[in-house]
Amino acid sequence: VEPNAFTGAQLDRASDGRRRDRSWLEAQVDDPRARVLLAGTAGVSMRDGRLHYVPLATAPPGIEAPVLLGIDSEGPLFALDEGPPIQEGTRPPLIGWAGRLGEPAASAEERVPLREAVGALRQQEGGVLAYAAGMINWHRSHRFCSVCGAPTVAGEGGEIRHCDRCGTDHHPRLDPVVIMLVVDHDRVLLGRQHGWPEKRYSALAGFVSPGESLEEAVAREVGEEAGLEVGQARYVASQPWPFPSSLMLGFTVPWTSGEPGGSDPELEDARWFTREQIEFASRLEASWDGKAADGVEVLLPPRLAIARRLIEHWLDPTVPSERG
Ligand SMILES: [Zn+2]
Repeated sequence: VEPNAFTGAQLDRASDGRRRDRSWLEAQVDDPRARVLLAGTAGVSMRDGRLHYVPLATAPPGIEAPVLLGIDSEGPLFALDEGPPIQEGTRPPLIGWAGRLGEPAASAEERVPLREAVGALRQQEGGVLAYAAGMINWHRSHRFCSVCGAPTVAGEGGEIRHCDRCGTDHHPRLDPVVIMLVVDHDRVLLGRQHGWPEKRYSALAGFVSPGESLEEAVAREVGEEAGLEVGQARYVASQPWPFPSSLMLGFTVPWTSGEPGGSDPELEDARWFTREQIEFASRLEASWDGKAADGVEVLLPPRLAIARRLIEHWLDPTVPSERG
């Protein structure tokens, strides 16, 4: 099975207790092979289509200590937030976020926004990118304790943030999101949000709520967004989505009753498409902001998004059980 974009980092994350050993951590920093990936508000450091690492010893000062991502075949690998510094009292910008929803891309030499970067990188570097971006964004947005409000400090090589005042250890946050294709024999339901490129449709998706299984979240979201009732969801694949901290959990789910017409104000439209319409659209390359050519009824998401993966899984003639 072809892996999804933003996965495949070939790293030993050293999450087995070594990080709690101060002398081990110091040895990673002092290792002459140690390299660092620079990333900041403008994006991630790339050169010639690859992530660009610099020796840790020559790295510029970051806005915090470098985060130890782990150990790869060439030694310790760190990520460093190169800033610019966060303005007190403001919401820190997310790294590599530019380019989303028509925002202009940040301009900085050899710094590339995440969406653009992951489309250009080889698989395992895409995994490192998602990991580094997720960690830096988490550090940026968790500088204060969510329990007592005091400043927090990074520990264990950046794997936690600790509050000295109330003693809480904070761990990197992930937000589970279910994303699902509602299928009914040779038709599939897709939706579009306000502000998307014309004719762009994708799988329905939503955050999982506390006290809810993934299957329950699938059924609730389909009901809210499209007004349909569905049967038993089947898991297909997952994908980290570092915008800023989602984990996409992909399903197909059979339609059982109802017609499209939900109450979710974010959704502009949800409708059925035929297998022929989707097959035709799947032969076209899609970019994030691409326009649909004349005569094209639906513009699918780009190939690096799990929504596209779910659609191609449904189209795959070797997967007959996914026809609903
Ligand atoms: Zn605290």
